[in-house]
Amino acid sequence: MPYLNSLRNRFIITLSIMLMLVMGILVFILHQLMIPNLISEERQSAHVYANVLQESIDNNARALSDMAFQWASWASTRDFMEGSLPGFPQTHITSAVFADRSADMMLITNANDGVAWIAGRNPVTGDFTSCARPTGSCQWTLEQVRQIQRQLPLTDTVTRIGVRPEFALLSTWPIARHGSTLPSGKLTLVRFLPGQWRPNPMHMASTLTLSAIRQSVTASTDKSAVVIDADSDDSLRLTLLRDSATPGYQVMMTTRLERHSLRAGIERFNLTMLGALGLLLLLMMIMLWVFRAIVLRPIGELSRYASALRQSPGEHLDSPPPWLQARGDELGVMAREFQTLIHDLNERNAHLKALTNRDALTGLGNRRLLDRQLPRILSLTHRLERPVALIMIDVDHFKLYNDFYGHPEGDQCLKTIADTLRDIFQRESDLVARVGGEEFVIVLPDFDLDRAMDIARGVCTAMEAQCLPHEPSPTHKYVTISAGVAVSSPEHPLSGEALIKQADEALYQIKKSSRNAVGCGASVPLATHGNKRP
Ligand code: GH3
Ligand code: MG
Ligand code: MG
Repeated sequence: MPYLNSLRNRFIITLSIMLMLVMGILVFILHQLMIPNLISEERQSAHVYANVLQESIDNNARALSDMAFQWASWASTRDFMEGSLPGFPQTHITSAVFADRSADMMLITNANDGVAWIAGRNPVTGDFTSCARPTGSCQWTLEQVRQIQRQLPLTDTVTRIGVRPEFALLSTWPIARHGSTLPSGKLTLVRFLPGQWRPNPMHMASTLTLSAIRQSVTASTDKSAVVIDADSDDSLRLTLLRDSATPGYQVMMTTRLERHSLRAGIERFNLTMLGALGLLLLLMMIMLWVFRAIVLRPIGELSRYASALRQSPGEHLDSPPPWLQARGDELGVMAREFQTLIHDLNERNAHLKALTNRDALTGLGNRRLLDRQLPRILSLTHRLERPVALIMIDVDHFKLYNDFYGHPEGDQCLKTIADTLRDIFQRESDLVARVGGEEFVIVLPDFDLDRAMDIARGVCTAMEAQCLPHEPSPTHKYVTISAGVAVSSPEHPLSGEALIKQADEALYQIKKSSRNAVGCGASVPLATHGNKRP
C-alpha cells in the first residue's frame, strides 16, 4: 500500500496547491481588475449611447422647430393674422401638412394668446379637423390648447416636451413681419409622442420609455442629466432627464442597454481561465508522469531490490538493474554505491562465514565444520559405494608440554602439528579439523581401514620426524601423537556421530595402553608406532 506521505502524494499535493494558487490569482484578477475595467468601459459606451440619444431628441426638436419657424415666418400666415387672407387655413393648412407625421397639430394664437386657428389630426380617430375654436370637431385639441396657452407667455422658441395631457414635442414661434418686434401672434406645432418613443428610427435599440415626474420647486435638473444604473446582470438602465414644457414636471426617458460587452468580456476571460487551467492540469499530469519515470520508478526498483535482499539474505541476488546503474544522474550514483555496498557486505559475510568454520589458532577447520561436512561426505561417498575413514589424533602428554615450555610454546606446537597434517592431507576431499584443545580429526573419503591405519601411522612418523623436543614426556624425547581410526563402509554405514565416537573410543583405548600409537575402531590396537622412550 502506498504511503500517505509518499513522494508521489507529496508531489501531487504540491502541484494541487500550486494549481489552486493559480486559480485564486486568476479569480482575483477577474474580480479586482477585469470586471471593474469592463464595467468602466461599459459606462463609457453607455455615455456615448446617451449622447447619441440626446442628439436624436435634439434633431427631432430641431426639425419641428424649423417647420414651425417656416410656417410662422411665411407671409401668408402673417397676412392671415392681419386679416388680409382669411381663407388661408382652408387653402393651406390641409391634411397634407400632417400626412408625414412631422407634426400632428398646429395652433395659431393672436397677440393676446387667444386661439386664432387650430388644426390637426385627432390621434385617437386619425381624422383631420381644422377649426377656428377648439370646440366641435376640434374638441379633442382643447386640453392641449389650454396647456399651450399657459406656456405662451414664457415661450422662448425652445422646443420642449410637454407631458400634459399627453407626451408631445412643442415648438412655438412668433408670427411677425420682418424687422418688427411686435408679433401679430404665435404659431405652435405639436408632435405627439408615443409612450415608447424611438427618436432615431435608424437606431434599432433607441426606444425610450417616456414618463413624467413631478419636479420639486428647488430641484433644477441639468437639461442633459444622464443616470446609468445596473438594472440586472443582463441589462443597464439608461435614464435621461429633461425639463418639460409643462410647468412643474420633468420628462424621464429610460431605455435598457444589453450588457453584451461585459458578458462577452467575462465569458472570454472565463474561457481563457478554463483553457489555462486545462493546460495547467495537462502540465501537471505530464510532470507527474515525468517525475514517475525519472525519480519514482528507479527509487521503487532500488527499494524492491533492497527488500528482496532483506527477505532472502543468504541468496546471491543480482545487482540492481543495469539500466539503473548506467544512469548518469544522482540516482545512478546511488544505485552504483548501493551495488558496491552490497558487494562489500557479501564479501564480509562470506569472510565471516569462513571464520565461523575455521580454527583461529591453526587455520584448520573446526568442530563446527566437521559436524556440518561429515554427514554430507558420508552420504556422498557411500552413494559411490566407497568407505569413509576417520582418524582422531591426540597429542601425547601435552599438558606436560605446556607446563614445561609454557602456553605460547604449546600453541606453536599445535600450529606445527596442523602444518604437518596440511602437508600430508592435500586432497580436495580430505577434511582436517582441530576439534579440541590438542585433538585433531581427519576425514578420508574412499579410505578403508587398512589404508587409514597406514596413513595414521604415517602421521605418527611424520610428527616424530618434526623433532619437536618434549623433554618431560615419558614416551619420547620429541612430541608424539596417538591416533584412533574408525571406518564407515557402505555395507555398515555409521552416522557421523557414531563414527567420531568409535574413533574416539579407539584413541581412548590406545592411550590407555600406550602412546605414539594407532588404534582402530575395533578397540584392538592393530599396531603401535612405538610406545617407549628411546
Ligand atoms: P594424554 O597423553 O593422556 O593425552 O595427556 P595430555 O596431557 O595430553 O592430556 P590432558 O587432557 O591431560 O591435557 C591436555 C592439555 O592440552 C591441557 C591443556 O593445557 C592443553 N591445551 C588444550 N588446549 C590448548 C591450547 O589451545 N593451547 C595450549 N598451549 N595448550 C592447550
Ligand atoms: Mg586430549
Ligand atoms: Mg593429549
